[in-house]
Parts: sequence; structure tokens; C-alpha cells
Amino acid sequence: MMPEECQICGKKTKKLYSCRRCGRKVCKKCFHDSEKLCEICYNRGEQGKNELNIPESAKPMSVSPKDIKK
Ligand SMILES: [Zn+2]
Ligand SMILES: [Zn+2]
Repeated sequence: MMPEECQICGKKTKKLYSCRRCGRKVCKKCFHDSEKLCEICYNRGEQGKNELNIPESAKPMSVSPKDIKK
């Protein structure tokens, strides 16, 4: 197994986290575990929330239906 690279900062690490919105594989430093979002989506989400004031769960985001069935 090759070490994988964080798709945001390029850091090589064995442990990568998948963003639940864009699917990027990112390192712990670039991942917000509480939101399960990468740094980029996390920052976007914060801005969107402030502008639209819509709860995360109510957003018709670009999440395909197969990802929601939980
Ligand atoms: Zn990173
Ligand atoms: Zn993301």
C-alpha cells in the first residue's frame, strides 16, 4: 500500500478522511471531523449557512440519493 496524499495540502499520510460532500481524500489537518467535511467544503458551508440560514440537512445539495440511505 502506497501512502496517499491529501488532496488539499498534498501531505502524505496513511490516514485519509473522505469529505462527505465532495469526496476528497484529505488529511486530518484538512478535515473537520465534526462536520465530516474537508476544509474547502467546510468553509463554503459556513458561508452558505450565514447567507441562506438553511440547516445542513435541508439543503438540496449535490449528494446523490445512494449516499443518503442511512
Ligand atoms: Zn491536508
Ligand atoms: Zn469537500
